[in-house]
Amino acid sequence: MAVHNYDLVVIGSGPAGESAAINAAKHGKRVAIVERQSSVGGNCTHWGTIPSKALRHQVKQIMQFNTNRMFRDIGEPRWFSFPKVLERSRVTIDQQVELRTKFYSRNRIDLFFGVARFRDEHTVVVRDNHEGAEELSAPQFVIATGSRPYRPADVNFRHPRIYCSDTILGLSHTPRTLIIYGAGVIGSEYASIFSGLGVKVDLIDTRERLLSFLDDEISDALSYELRNYGVLIRHNEEYQSVEGDEAGVVVNLKSGKRLRADAFLWANGRTGNTDELGLENIGLEANGRGQLQVDDHYRTAIPHISAVGDVIGWPSLASAAYDQGRSASDEFLGEDFRFVDDIPTGIYTIPEISSVGKTERELTEAKVPYEVAQAFFKDTARAQITGDTAGMLKILFHRETLEILGIHCFGDQASEIVHIGQAIMQQKGEANTLRYFINTTFNYPTMAEAYRIAAQNGLNRLF
Ligand SMILES: Cc1cc2nc3c(=O)[nH]c(=O)nc-3n(C[C@H](O)[C@H](O)[C@H](O)COP(=O)(O)OP(=O)(O)OC[C@H]3O[C@@H](n4cnc5c(N)ncnc54)[C@H](O)[C@@H]3O)c2cc1C
Repeated sequence: MAVHNYDLVVIGSGPAGESAAINAAKHGKRVAIVERQSSVGGNCTHWGTIPSKALRHQVKQIMQFNTNRMFRDIGEPRWFSFPKVLERSRVTIDQQVELRTKFYSRNRIDLFFGVARFRDEHTVVVRDNHEGAEELSAPQFVIATGSRPYRPADVNFRHPRIYCSDTILGLSHTPRTLIIYGAGVIGSEYASIFSGLGVKVDLIDTRERLLSFLDDEISDALSYELRNYGVLIRHNEEYQSVEGDEAGVVVNLKSGKRLRADAFLWANGRTGNTDELGLENIGLEANGRGQLQVDDHYRTAIPHISAVGDVIGWPSLASAAYDQGRSASDEFLGEDFRFVDDIPTGIYTIPEISSVGKTERELTEAKVPYEVAQAFFKDTARAQITGDTAGMLKILFHRETLEILGIHCFGDQASEIVHIGQAIMQQKGEANTLRYFINTTFNYPTMAEAYRIAAQNGLNRLF
């Protein structure tokens, strides 16, 4: 077996692994990265973030064509099939793979394709599909193996009409009706995508409100918009059984309800990819969700083996995974370390949602004297021009110091808009107050105007 020696071996080429590897290589280290799929990019590029966001973008364009009256001069509303929309989304996946492959060659990082398994604390064996094996040895390792959909044993995922968020990308027709089980971020995003394609969606939520970690008003706004697009949301429900037959899927709920649809999408939970790592050979153990525990420097119980990204659980976002990967290799390089905990939420439903900082609920519980500053998109020139008038920006601020405590945005471009407020929130002292938005001139017309409108609205509430 060929043996290779490196300074750092990274397992997994998603955002977490990629940034760990590149950071170390840029500091002159000899780095290898191992990937079990046949191309780089991780589940992020192949099954998660990129395909779902590309799909969403195509669907949003179709919705605009179908709802904007101007387009009626050139044709009636048209419906596209899911496979057609998927085909366009694959272009983005290919572009991402090409780009990321170049990063490795440019930074002289050796890429190994195959499953990595620890033989001991300083060696992994990489087995490829052709039964070939190579041995990589290093003083430092980063585990960035990500996650996959959790698949309960009592749901038959081999049935052709029963899907998870990975296999849905192989859907070869457009169902007329779809049941989505799990109304977390992934379930809600796919509810938007499918309802935008004209599919009747039943969204089953095991909780009493959608995305309960969000500000209540924003969560209510999402429920309203999804219903507006024909999604039927059923709260506080759990499945008793999921049965596929020739024509569709029947879901029996514990509440006694019986639902039927052409297809079923399971979007309830994910499992860390640790089962093939040979953890037993190094004395590490994953928790019941397949996740590894790390300390506040991303070190596992074996200090020279770090773990980052989805495999360590919260927040399970590509955005955070990328920064965690860089931090883990900064730790190993002896550079300034940053624990990644101040993370904005970006949810790409239609319309999208984004927030950073505290919610009203949290501030109320902590008895912080806050006030609300609000702007509705319908009152901004930019939204009136684009027609994307559904939405709002809400800034929570301290009523005495005017310090910004939370930003919550719902509507078109929310995930971009939130970054303006986030940048101000990060400032120290008086630089982080609502006054910034009054004392600063923004381009006009832009969605940044919402910050000025909200700030004025908030200051007017003070007495
Ligand atoms: C449908 C969906 C939509 C999402 N949308 C967003 C979004 O909009 N924004 C956002 O920030 N996040 C989003 N996420 C989450 C995001 O995709 C993940 O947080 C991110 O992919 C985690 O990155 P990672 O590097 O930890 O792992 P991954 O991207 O999961 O990559 C891990 C890689 O490790 C490889 N691997 C596993 N085991 C081994 C082994 N033993 N040997 C070799 N290789 C191995 C895997 O094949 C995989 O390629 C979404 C997720 C899903 C499922």
